[in-house]
Amino acid sequence: MTTTNHDQKNPCLYCGDAERPKTDEHVLQRAFGTSLVLEGDVCGRCNSVVFSPLDTELVGFVRGFTHSGHPDVLQHRHFLNMGHSASFDESSGAWISVRRDMKRGQIVPLSQIVMVTENAAIVTPEERVVHQVRKEMERSNALKIERLIWRPGEGKPRAQVSIIRSGANKYLVRASSEYEADAVIDAIHSGRLFDGISITCIYDPFKDRDTNVVLIAEGNEQDVSRAVVKSAINFVCAAASPALARDPVFSDARQFALTGSPYECARLVRFAMDDRDAPEEIRAARLSFCRPGFHTMIFAESMGNPSVLINLYGQPFATVRLVCSSLHRQLLGGQIFACLFDYKAGTHRLLSNQDGSLHREFG
Ligand SMILES: [Zn+2]
Repeated sequence: MTTTNHDQKNPCLYCGDAERPKTDEHVLQRAFGTSLVLEGDVCGRCNSVVFSPLDTELVGFVRGFTHSGHPDVLQHRHFLNMGHSASFDESSGAWISVRRDMKRGQIVPLSQIVMVTENAAIVTPEERVVHQVRKEMERSNALKIERLIWRPGEGKPRAQVSIIRSGANKYLVRASSEYEADAVIDAIHSGRLFDGISITCIYDPFKDRDTNVVLIAEGNEQDVSRAVVKSAINFVCAAASPALARDPVFSDARQFALTGSPYECARLVRFAMDDRDAPEEIRAARLSFCRPGFHTMIFAESMGNPSVLINLYGQPFATVRLVCSSLHRQLLGGQIFACLFDYKAGTHRLLSNQDGSLHREFG
């Protein structure tokens, strides 16, 4: 593992504490297969007490939602409470668990069977799902079943029981009460799940339609944003300098990562799907730095705003503007820093246009 060799005597990048021992803080979450760490910049308390739960939320969000269809994510995919999202389909009256398809830029349904009434169910996105489920449920002791209890908020239609297939023999039962979940899991184990049920397939309920997505498990959108901002600051520290990462212009962003306030910083994280109105240079940088087999982080100044772009699994993930207010001084003077993470090998390469390595890689 390579580490940045920063001075252990620095105060903690986030809480400012100078006494507590520093621990290795992964710049980009370790669960994504990365190896770049800050060695002497983040105290053990910030690392494990504050940031670990945020990292877990972010990893769940990526595996379960934004990148859940990616082949390199599939082996890790499982649907826990965090990052699980649903959208209401008017025509079937069903709450459908969804993910974002980063390539098509659309909301698409996960493989699932929704029990819309006592004797009718819908399956999406293809009929094949029913055959897979039927076959696997014949050997119910081989199944790994998780449960997620969720009730849509006030004024929203009631959510039906849904059986979501996340991989071979892996399921999530989504229900609005433990009682409902118990009943369905019993039916699965006794082989009665499909008894007296007629099944209809809806192929692509959200095709070419705007739909509201409800992120199940409240408040976690902010936690995901905090984890993303923290990684961006970490990257400034590792790639540019520990001094720059501690610059007062980034104090709001550091504070947001640490405590969640000021809340307006959450708006500075733009997930890739919302990138359409981003400056041209940001979109161009994203395109040239996204490549299969790698995560990429880029730190550059765009229209006077220091920003970090994050691509995961060779696909756009987020853009983080690191300063809430407008800036009156140039921080980078045209410098660009990038890191390519080979997540299968667990290695990385730090590049910059200062030493020409960025140009050799991408020129
Ligand atoms: Zn700290």
